[in-house]
Amino acid sequence: MTWQDFPKIELHLHHEGAAPPEFIRRLAQEKSVNLSGIFDDSGSYAFDDFPDFLRVYEAAASVLGSPDDYARLTAEILARLAGHGVIYAETFVSPDFCGGGDVSAWREYLHAMTEAAAQAEAAHGIVWRGVVTCVRHFGPYRSRAAARCAAETAGQGIVGFGMGGNETMGRQGDFAWAFDCAREAGLGLTTHAGEFCGADSVRQALDDLRVDRIGHGVRVVEDPALMDRLAASGVVLELCPGSNLALGLYPDMRAHPIDRLRRAGVRVTVNTDDPPFFHTTMTDEFAALELAFGWGEEDFADITSTALRAAFCDDVTRDTLKERLAAGHPALAARFSPDRMKTDVFNPDLLR
Ligand SMILES: [Zn+2]
Repeated sequence: MTWQDFPKIELHLHHEGAAPPEFIRRLAQEKSVNLSGIFDDSGSYAFDDFPDFLRVYEAAASVLGSPDDYARLTAEILARLAGHGVIYAETFVSPDFCGGGDVSAWREYLHAMTEAAAQAEAAHGIVWRGVVTCVRHFGPYRSRAAARCAAETAGQGIVGFGMGGNETMGRQGDFAWAFDCAREAGLGLTTHAGEFCGADSVRQALDDLRVDRIGHGVRVVEDPALMDRLAASGVVLELCPGSNLALGLYPDMRAHPIDRLRRAGVRVTVNTDDPPFFHTTMTDEFAALELAFGWGEEDFADITSTALRAAFCDDVTRDTLKERLAAGHPALAARFSPDRMKTDVFNPDLLR
């Protein structure tokens, strides 16, 4: 079967990283900006390794210079996601890119994005929420400005706070002030860890930032005791298998630890990270997981149920999404049936 119509939830998607190259080229043309250095002959984004990926990412993002640009990008992203069955998406949005960390400028960008998202919801049924992210390689000082922006707009389309960027710069704990600020504002917390740095970076994320979710976290398989702790904690991994393959962490999908993590009781979700950069979509991710591990409808219903529980939205939204998921596929209806719910991850007492 094709997985395109299977109802999905996406939790780990960078707003600028979801910009199709043709969208960025069109914008660059309108603004007479020369971006030829970041595309290959076929028009795709071209990069060698992770540092080079960040360079290309920031060059592409540099043409997004106004609230209107972000409104157009939001419309483009959500239409594409809806085309792959995504009914709820959280994207990472950075005040560093949207107004340079200034709260009133950030409000204008966010207003433009929420308006575009409301139109996308009316047109395609997809629900959008934002997770404000600080950029790790911009340092702890700028992370405070990002956290202030997040706290000021908590509940106005913003449901979480996180950190992306170059994982090798500094320690997770250097950013504790920003995460404490966001926690006090009632936001859900996530951080990139255990992607390029080892399992210890996941330990730091749990101990020093006390996050609810971890972006990637795949390297935790290298530390069985920590993997057990993660499983027991109920902290959810936002896994992005295609991204890991594209950036050379694993040679192929069968070598990816997603199946091992899940069997060890770690709560995992499936996401695309920066899909046009990595030539992937949610449909592609599902298809690749089916091929590599034989995952079927029950497995994807389980993954989707975990994503629904881990979403940072309010419970009214969560209940509405649950109804829509159940109505969208028999495997999801079975997953959310009253009998199954008694042993479900929604019951925190039953969390491993
Ligand atoms: Zn990411």
